Amino acid sequence: MTIEKHNGEYLDLLLQDVFKCVRCGFCNSVCPTSNISISYMGSRTSRGRIVILQAYFSNILNKPIESDEIQEAFDYCFGCRRCLDICPAGVKIPQIVWRVKSLKARKRLLHRFLFSNYGLLEKICSKMPKLSNTFLSSSLGKTMLERLYGIDRRVSFPKFYEVSLESWFRRRRFQNSGGRKLSYFVDVFTNYHEVDLGIEIVTTLEKLGYSISIPPQKEAGTILFEEGLIEEALKIARYNIENLYKSIVNGSVILTSSPAAYLALKKDYPEFLGDEKSRIVADNTFDVLELLLRDVEEGRVKLDSREGFKITYHHSCFTKASGLTKTIKRLLSYAEYDLKEVDQCCGIAGLWGMKKKHFDQAIEVGSGLFSELKNLAIPVTSQSETCRLQIRHNTGIDVKHPFQYISEIIEPRP
Ligand code: SF4
Ligand code: SF4
Repeated sequence: MTIEKHNGEYLDLLLQDVFKCVRCGFCNSVCPTSNISISYMGSRTSRGRIVILQAYFSNILNKPIESDEIQEAFDYCFGCRRCLDICPAGVKIPQIVWRVKSLKARKRLLHRFLFSNYGLLEKICSKMPKLSNTFLSSSLGKTMLERLYGIDRRVSFPKFYEVSLESWFRRRRFQNSGGRKLSYFVDVFTNYHEVDLGIEIVTTLEKLGYSISIPPQKEAGTILFEEGLIEEALKIARYNIENLYKSIVNGSVILTSSPAAYLALKKDYPEFLGDEKSRIVADNTFDVLELLLRDVEEGRVKLDSREGFKITYHHSCFTKASGLTKTIKRLLSYAEYDLKEVDQCCGIAGLWGMKKKHFDQAIEVGSGLFSELKNLAIPVTSQSETCRLQIRHNTGIDVKHPFQYISEIIEPRP
């Protein structure tokens, strides 16, 4: 095996990791896309992708790694990270997949341009919400989304609010300037498409004695990693880290409410950047539910009881991967909710399940979950924004962020 042969730094970094795989197949057992009809063909399974790479590095793969056929096998990894915990050899499959995808993605100039500017495009659309909402639900708008971003026409693009969270935050009169400082890393979805959740988080935390700021920031960039646009994702990561680091130096800790944003700051940025600032940002990042749990356990706030109130807790893939599941369950159990847990992937995986080429497969992945939720017929809570979308669209059931169940029963202790 010669290092030079393998596309410079991109694949060289994988060499060691790929040969750690002992082909046990445990990853297949938890991989959502390795257990649908498409995975019965070719090597479109979690283990299959690693075996392809073992063949490649052993010089016995008879096709280029950038070929459509090989890239397609890698496209069936949607980065859910369910395989990370179960792999006995510690193979980081999603990170490997991003690097393999990058071999092709970095040559697709229009694709690179569109995805690396999607945060800017969202910002522009949010400035004229009525027009954007009308256009994106029109036939012409759907055609444009399909051509440019591959989004299936059956997808109802999430609506833009009248104002973004950042604009609401800048315009409001009252701001708690005392208390413990939090810098909110909002991310795109809450900023433009779930502004009410962001407002609830800001106002509730202020009542509990926090002082909130929203520092300059861009999107978390998770979609870019998953599209194989690693350099573009890292450009955004550096921008975010610089600004969040300044907030920490000024006495804040970093607040997130999206599991994708939390994972980016806690794991992806420090793993890829490997610098001191991103490690400091990771150490000082807290999910809103982590903060609330700490406040409850340290006696600063109290929760009313919701004894007997039934809700279903959906384990989103990113909540599992970020290790927040126990935190959320513990907080909900302090409020005595009657929790039913459902641990199945909904199939959406950010943008993956919205794409025309994967739309039906995403429904197939999520079908077991949708049936179970419909049978239970009780409100659902899920921490992931896109899981909430997917579950709502496919079951008609009300799905909220766990914070929304806690915020109505939490108050500061006198
Ligand atoms: S779980 Fe790990 S060691 Fe087992 S097949 Fe998957 S990648 Fe290889
Ligand atoms: S990250 Fe998810 S989709 Fe990708 S191989 Fe692992 S379990 Fe499968």
